[in-house]
Amino acid sequence: MNVARASALALTLVLVAGCGSPGGQVAPPTPPPATSAPTAAAIAATHAPTAIPATDAPSPTVLPSAPAETVAPTPDCGGGVTPSLTEGPYFTPNSPERASLLEADTAGTRIVISGYVLSAECRPVAGALLDFWQADADGVYDNAGYRLRGHQFTDANGRYVLETIVPGLYTGRTEHIHVKVQAPGGPVLTTQLFFPDAPENSTDRIFNAALVLPVQETADGLAAAFDFVVP
Ligand code: FE
Repeated sequence: MNVARASALALTLVLVAGCGSPGGQVAPPTPPPATSAPTAAAIAATHAPTAIPATDAPSPTVLPSAPAETVAPTPDCGGGVTPSLTEGPYFTPNSPERASLLEADTAGTRIVISGYVLSAECRPVAGALLDFWQADADGVYDNAGYRLRGHQFTDANGRYVLETIVPGLYTGRTEHIHVKVQAPGGPVLTTQLFFPDAPENSTDRIFNAALVLPVQETADGLAAAFDFVVP
């Protein structure tokens, strides 16, 4: 054994001893957190389907004031800016402001979608606009009124909660929800959200796997968390 190899071996032994002995020269590693990976229930709780009352929407005059230090834990936005997709032919401007698109006679499978709007720097954006529109459970859009259409603003922590139904299919498309997202004073991101395991995903030419909602079954029904990263 040459000198260099012997030195390396000695160093290795010191390091190993340090890891196993509190009296060693090397500081013991930080113990892992006691908690295990979050459960589905915990994730669902994080994105609890408690609807934000429409009155919680911050007014534009108080938008830019949320310092990053006070917001909720930073979500993962490692995927970069949310992909944009075609608006399609059925957008209607001036939708009502509401977090729930459900009306008394709205049929379909209820789902709560919630998450953050994040800047490209991964900071939650307060007061961001989200304007959702979708087909009903039969795949039909209301192009005369505002059924299953509505806009809302993220709260002071950059969060939104949408209560709606799983949309039905219409010719040539898989299940999808349209949305426009805009940080205050920023460009509009137009995109669509999709559903896992829909057979039509494989044949829909607009479908983007990065925009699939991670739908979970919870005690309150279907829920999905989805964060938008705006340009
Ligand atoms: Fe559509």
